[in-house]
Amino acid sequence: MPRYAYVNGRYLPHAQAAVHIEDRGYQFADGVYEVVPVYKGILVDEAPHLDRLERSLKELRIGMPASRSALKLISHELMRRNDLSHGFLYVQVTRGVAPREHAFPEHARPALVMTTRQTKPHGEEMLRQGVKVITMPDIRWKRCDIKSISLLPNVLAKQKAAEAGAYEAWQVDAEGRITEGSASNAWIVTAEGAGVTRDASQAILNGITRQSLLTLIREEGYDFQERAFTLDEARAAREAFLTSSTSFVLPVTRIDEAPVGNGQPGPLFGALRAHYLEYMAALGEGE
Ligand code: PMP
Repeated sequence: MPRYAYVNGRYLPHAQAAVHIEDRGYQFADGVYEVVPVYKGILVDEAPHLDRLERSLKELRIGMPASRSALKLISHELMRRNDLSHGFLYVQVTRGVAPREHAFPEHARPALVMTTRQTKPHGEEMLRQGVKVITMPDIRWKRCDIKSISLLPNVLAKQKAAEAGAYEAWQVDAEGRITEGSASNAWIVTAEGAGVTRDASQAILNGITRQSLLTLIREEGYDFQERAFTLDEARAAREAFLTSSTSFVLPVTRIDEAPVGNGQPGPLFGALRAHYLEYMAALGEGE
């Protein structure tokens, strides 16, 4: 079965899908994106992802490429054509095609691309053992709240992690506080037993998985704080984990060369992952 991509109004075979060389996404990374998880054929947290897309576009003064209802129709049609059951939907919007000048073009039309990717759920081994993260200075710009396609520091960080045999790189700001991973949010359970994740500001991307998990945490009444935490606190933590649309909730059992706590995924992680999976399973039942 051919795999399709949606490009500016057309469903094209993936191998032939292309944009113009003067698309400002290609020239300037002048655009934004979303990655929406698909679990058992259902888009997880579709509305908050669309809200964040709208917000990112507004911050960059790029127009919505289509109405929300049209975006929903296109994504569902693409998932249907690609028979997507587990994986993600990728949505990218750029300022459009125009002669290469830094300032905004007067007449460019926002360009919309959507693709899907089928992936396998994380293996049991990864969940049982947890993953390693390395740490490195956060060299990104000061608007990490915008889901910009300009991802060079994130790419370099992830590559450094890969070369160190790690799953992710946790970035550390000038004050020695962890901001987030290259493509995920960072969480710890302190030596005192309090859960902590960095507060949403311009220093991090406010992850949709982060937001959904925080809602579940509040509903369940766990002791959690949204605040900055230092690398030293993370090193002394009992537990650590990360969240993202592609990883859901994953245990972190090594930070650089040292084990986190006893080096095993912790009980709070286990409880929260279970709550999150229940939450995703319930989304399907509501359809
Ligand atoms: N931070 C960064 C820098 C990311 O790229 C991502 C993944 N898109 C996240 C956090 C997690 O966000 P979400 O839960 O919405 O995938």
